[in-house]
Amino acid sequence: MRDFLAQTLKGKAPGQRQGETAHFRWQWWDEGILLLMPLQPVEKALILSAGVHGNETAPVEILDRLLKRLFDGELALQWRLLVVLGNPSALRSGKRYLHSDMNRMFGGRWQQFPESVETQRANVLEHTLEKFFESGEEKLRWHLDMHTAIRGSYHPRFGVLPARPLPYDEAYLAWLGCAGLQALVFHRAPGGTFTHFSSEHFGTLSCTLELGKAQPFGENDLSQFAVTEAALAALLCGGEAPAAQDPPLRYKVVQQITRHSDSFVLHMTGQTLNFTAFPRGTLLAEDSDTRYEVKHDCEYVLFPNPSVAIGMRAGLMLIEMK
Ligand code: ZN
Repeated sequence: MRDFLAQTLKGKAPGQRQGETAHFRWQWWDEGILLLMPLQPVEKALILSAGVHGNETAPVEILDRLLKRLFDGELALQWRLLVVLGNPSALRSGKRYLHSDMNRMFGGRWQQFPESVETQRANVLEHTLEKFFESGEEKLRWHLDMHTAIRGSYHPRFGVLPARPLPYDEAYLAWLGCAGLQALVFHRAPGGTFTHFSSEHFGTLSCTLELGKAQPFGENDLSQFAVTEAALAALLCGGEAPAAQDPPLRYKVVQQITRHSDSFVLHMTGQTLNFTAFPRGTLLAEDSDTRYEVKHDCEYVLFPNPSVAIGMRAGLMLIEMK
């Protein structure tokens, strides 16, 4: 199971489905789903996921390297750990998704989409998280879901945090800075992401990590993710994260641009970077009679994408939190 990624990409169930190393027992639960349980009792549970979008390969490679170091005994695991490769079918095809974007489907929203590989997988992953948290009593629960962005960004590494009723633990936010995130974006409304699901249903401290730009397997410059990988390695074995360079800037979502019809027009180019600033009054998008304008002195765009399906998010607008 040291070669979990290669085995998952082959698309076959492993011959051996559980085992033990010097530090932990492991169980293969399903395609792309692996549980690691330290031999000594621990009080922390962690989900590390990647490949929810199948073309975002850098985080999958990072996860693969961390897993090999765990199996080689180089990292002594201090968490009950669930490793998830989100969408194995899309990973094998090198595509973001095969039918529909799975990271809009969690929290039961998959039932509103035509049945596909992604709706089935979202259902499996929801049940997997239930099983994972039911089988442990840890008070501290983290979920780090690693992605890469479609386009370039003024902040190459950033985190998106789901809306939650209680404020975030500052030590957790500080760790995200130590993991190399240059900006943190706080959602203020529920969504269909994997991290919103884990946060809402299991009270995890969850973050979607956006680590650079999507590239095919083998073409990622993993050195630009070295700080994140080092922080994760330290996290897994209970060590201190490397010190943060600068604390991440903080942003909150103030409006969502949604594509409601075929007449939707987004007034941004394909080169518009994430976190591009727009002054008050700028016309951002139009959709029949609806006009999306900047309402604050300065708003920053995140994930602009005019070609989403009707009813889906075509962009988020943010303001900086002082
Ligand atoms: Zn993604």
